[in-house]
Amino acid sequence: NNYQFFTQDMHTRAMLHLSRENALRKALQRTEMILHYQPQFDVKKGGVVGLEALVRWQDPELGLIWPGEFIPLAEETGLIVPLGQWVLEEACQRAKRWHDAAGGRPFHIAVNLSVRQFGMKNLVDVVRSALQASGLPPQALQLEITESVIMQEVENNIAVLEQLKVLGVRIALDDFGTGHSSLLYLKRLPVDVLKVDREFVDQIHKSPYDAALASTIIALGKSLKLKVIAEGVETVAQMESLLGLGCQTMQVYLFSPPLGEEECDRLLRGVPDLAF
Ligand code: C2E
Ligand code: MG
Ligand code: MG
Repeated sequence: NNYQFFTQDMHTRAMLHLSRENALRKALQRTEMILHYQPQFDVKKGGVVGLEALVRWQDPELGLIWPGEFIPLAEETGLIVPLGQWVLEEACQRAKRWHDAAGGRPFHIAVNLSVRQFGMKNLVDVVRSALQASGLPPQALQLEITESVIMQEVENNIAVLEQLKVLGVRIALDDFGTGHSSLLYLKRLPVDVLKVDREFVDQIHKSPYDAALASTIIALGKSLKLKVIAEGVETVAQMESLLGLGCQTMQVYLFSPPLGEEECDRLLRGVPDLAF
């Protein structure tokens, strides 16, 4: 009992979507994907304690495309599953060398998992194979899952997280504070790390309200014996506020943007060419 108009605009949008999907599919086949790595610093002790692998699409014509522009499409089309598996395998391979060079100092590689990957039956096997093929010790792999993803079908997800924990990997709740975790669930989630979302860091040095929220999140993490990593620090004032609240690990532009593999090599060898 209704009728709808099909407009030219809808046709254009559908065609655009289709051509983007095709381009993404081809990019995966042609291995136009590359990984950049953003260092995580321990500000008090000094030094890099880990790296987060962040995918980019190196399009021959358009240049570097950021994940915000293609991860949603990859999710929607299911292409995130092969893409995510490639990211995991590639990151583990690269990280093995950096881990060995760290000579026993704390070092881990962080890899993001999408909601689609998290729903895959063979996720645990995929992670196990990536570790075995690369020789990376499981404790050097940190899998990052956003809080909002975990909270969908939380009971099922707790079971998956527990299976991943059996492998010996670390689990981080990404973008923490934006996904409405119930405190009751937080107690039951087998996670090791909270990553404080940059929303909470942005105004931390200016707004007592934001500082109170950040302080509460950091205190919560600490009392649950979790490691707390801050994202999104761009100024010294923000860094000092975080340090004052007891958060000393930061993965932030103030210290380094995500770097290409060779730049990362140089950084880890102690010859950083960072533009502070
Ligand atoms: P994320 O996992 O929360 O990664 C942190 C993002 O914050 C990165 O953006 C990083 O460049 C950015 N960032 C770090 N420090 C600062 C800062 O001080 N200021 C600002 N403004 N930004 C900062 P990027 O690389 O654009 O990645 C965005 C998101 O895309 C990631 O957020 C993650 O959710 C997703 N993503 C990236 N790579 C992958 C992947 O391989 N698989 C999946 N499933 N998602 C990915
Ligand atoms: Mg992440
Ligand atoms: Mg994040």
